[in-house]
Amino acid sequence: MSNEKLIREFMLNMGFDVASEHFQATPKRFVETLERFYEGLGREEEVKKLLSVVFPNELGDGVISFHGITGRTLCPHHLMPVLYTAKFAYIPRDKNIGASKIYQAFSLLSSRPYMQEKLTRDFIEMFGLFVDPYASIIQIRGQLTCYEKENIICSDKPMVTLVKGGEVSRYENILLTQINAI
Ligand SMILES: [Zn+2]
Repeated sequence: MSNEKLIREFMLNMGFDVASEHFQATPKRFVETLERFYEGLGREEEVKKLLSVVFPNELGDGVISFHGITGRTLCPHHLMPVLYTAKFAYIPRDKNIGASKIYQAFSLLSSRPYMQEKLTRDFIEMFGLFVDPYASIIQIRGQLTCYEKENIICSDKPMVTLVKGGEVSRYENILLTQINAI
């Protein structure tokens, strides 16, 4: 049975009037939304390919930082939307990478069934593997929409994760200052 038919069955079981003009196209829209939120599923090689487009570093040992990096997924436990915004800073060594690759890589990496803690760790490790900076830091805010018992965990209580990579002890202060400034 196709995904659309399965969703239509689910809606019927829930008591929706699936013949209504409002709901006729809902299974199709829902499946499309699901595919968009999980568009990174099985595409880890593409993330690696994005992060491997490097060029010589011409910044010296300066700091580069980004804010407003975004991603999205459905939480693996409830299949409810999680919207991410991330701040990222690093000190390049010999190699550097275009800004657009960082935004694309994070968006694609995050869009699959994934715990935020692992996403945070994986991004720093993958970036380290391909760009090899002296040090890097990422802070991710996840806006969850899942229910836990009677309480909804919602946007006023984002989950914040932070991971550092590389020669952290030497560069921690400058990276933290940069993250907090943006
Ligand atoms: Zn959840």
